[in-house]
Amino acid sequence: MEISEEVVIVGAGIAGLATALALKRVGIRSMVLERSSELRTTGAAITLYPNAWLALQALGVAHKFTSMYSPLKKGYVINVANGATQEVSYTGINRTGYGPIAVHRRALLETLAGELAPGTIRFSSKLDSIQTVATNDKFSSSIAILSLDDGTVIKAKILIGCDGVHSVVGRWLGLMTPVNSGRSCIRGLAVYPQGHGFKHEFCRFVDQGKKGAYLPLTDKELYWFFTYTSTLKDEKTATDPKLLQKDIMENLANGFPPSFLEVVQHADVATVTWAQLIFRYPWNLIFGHLCKGNITVAGDAMHPMTPELGQGGCSALEDAVVLGRHLAKSLLPNPNGHGQIVAVDAARAIEGYVKERRWRVVGLIIGSYLSGWVQQSGSGFFMKFLRDIIFYKFLFHWVFDAHYDCGKLPNVSLPSQSNGQTKID
Ligand SMILES: Cc1cc2nc3c(=O)[nH]c(=O)nc-3n(C[C@H](O)[C@H](O)[C@H](O)COP(=O)(O)OP(=O)(O)OC[C@H]3O[C@@H](n4cnc5c(N)ncnc54)[C@H](O)[C@@H]3O)c2cc1C
Repeated sequence: MEISEEVVIVGAGIAGLATALALKRVGIRSMVLERSSELRTTGAAITLYPNAWLALQALGVAHKFTSMYSPLKKGYVINVANGATQEVSYTGINRTGYGPIAVHRRALLETLAGELAPGTIRFSSKLDSIQTVATNDKFSSSIAILSLDDGTVIKAKILIGCDGVHSVVGRWLGLMTPVNSGRSCIRGLAVYPQGHGFKHEFCRFVDQGKKGAYLPLTDKELYWFFTYTSTLKDEKTATDPKLLQKDIMENLANGFPPSFLEVVQHADVATVTWAQLIFRYPWNLIFGHLCKGNITVAGDAMHPMTPELGQGGCSALEDAVVLGRHLAKSLLPNPNGHGQIVAVDAARAIEGYVKERRWRVVGLIIGSYLSGWVQQSGSGFFMKFLRDIIFYKFLFHWVFDAHYDCGKLPNVSLPSQSNGQTKID
């Protein structure tokens, strides 16, 4: 089967769905290819910081979460070895009107997907390879020919790879394979049917090479995670959630406070998963090709980062808004009518997107790595001082611009609403 599409997005994760929604908001129709048979909600929950809420607001969906989840006002970072406690106030990062909020991944993905036109997502569609051919089309100088594993061939004028850390599109652009940080994370949801009784606060416990944390999602559920220096042996036992839970309680989180162990004990094992922490070297983003012609990447496909700042998903939402804004500048009514829009000079719009995103995500990758290093490395006096006094008191808010505003999407009046003319405000 051969299909022609104006815009193809590969991957229906946070980046892919948010990008499809941003494009929809500016009048561009897209097709989203997802290799799984349904939305993938691995990881159970995600913390979204004010920058993500600004992006969700630009996408027109932030309000859908505010009735279900409430923002965190403060948190604690507790040194497991000596009990030293730092209070982290989130009111300082509230100037955007949003605080950090943990939400179920399923709710985030389903909300984004629910805004798309029916049939936008093509499930069980794995992209295998990409070729390009030059064209005389006045809208684009080349066309991407996508081969799927079921034999389908799709011709796309614009291709956006939102296909995660092992991105096929990123590889086609020549980006290096992301690297393993040598650390892993086990995470899940703790469920208390009668209510958990914990305060609405983000509690983090830091030890040499280890960090555990929990934060409430609702009155009955807490999201928890545990990151640690991992070995090859861990990868072999990583698929059994019961073993992972047992390993934390009986081995990995030795010496951690009873409250953390109690939360892990209440895990719904169906939600417990293990992940290697992977990132891309920042110089690969500085010197590498983040786009070629009408092809680019967004989300983890562009900038996988370690999760210490909780910014991988937040920055994927920023990418979507920025890409939507740039592509909206190259809109033209489709000469064939039907109220459809095609993009002109998309390559230049995509270059503008990459230019705007490159240094922002380089900063986040470095900040995330630095944050993990300072939190979990070394037990000497200097590291303790750096971690407990300098980092959380003075540096945390500096390396972490949680209220970064990626901007808004333009108001686009489609031809049917404006006498055949496309208007962008
Ligand atoms: C332990 C951990 C904790 C984290 N905590 C946070 C947090 O608190 N806050 C935060 O903002 N971020 C967090 N992150 C990061 C966040 O999870 C990711 O950055 C985010 O999920 C990336 O979304 P994405 O859409 O780019 O990629 P993905 O979620 O990986 O989605 C990619 C999609 O593409 C599909 N796909 C892949 N290859 C193909 C193909 N060839 N053809 C078709 N489909 C394909 C996949 O099936 C998948 O659905 C955390 C990450 C980890 C590992």
